[in-house]
Amino acid sequence: MSETIFGKILSGAIPCHKVYEDERVFAFLDISPLSMGHTLVVPKEPAPTLDALSDESAAALGRVLPRICRAVIAVTGVRDYNVLENNGASAHQAVPHVHFHIIPKPSHDTGLAMGWQARPLDAEAGAKLAARLREKIG
Ligand code: AMP
Repeated sequence: MSETIFGKILSGAIPCHKVYEDERVFAFLDISPLSMGHTLVVPKEPAPTLDALSDESAAALGRVLPRICRAVIAVTGVRDYNVLENNGASAHQAVPHVHFHIIPKPSHDTGLAMGWQARPLDAEAGAKLAARLREKIG
């Protein structure tokens, strides 16, 4: 697969506003922020979607994400925020390299806006689906 724009940021070929770096994780400011402080947290491993990510990179991301969220809260002064991770073009993923958005939500009109078309879960269908998922996860 050809290198993504985030691969180019990781290799230093493209500049960014770096926020954090360790052996497996890199974070930088989004170039088109939804709100001030909008930060992207990426694994150095070039997995296109979360399901393709190694346990090691997943653990490294999980360890550091709350720390970066705390820094974003402290520096922006905005207490509420969304963490978003898109997978696949139809799920609004533009860059096929795993990335978590940390998006401060300073007001109703700024930050992430969401359509959330929820429907009730049928109890029988839910029980069957959960059982199949438990079996698959192992
Ligand atoms: P997604 O739609 O989840 O794939 O989000 C991709 C994000 O990458 C968008 O919010 C873009 O603004 C951001 N982005 C694209 N190119 C750059 C770049 N060179 N530096 C920082 N952020 C970028």
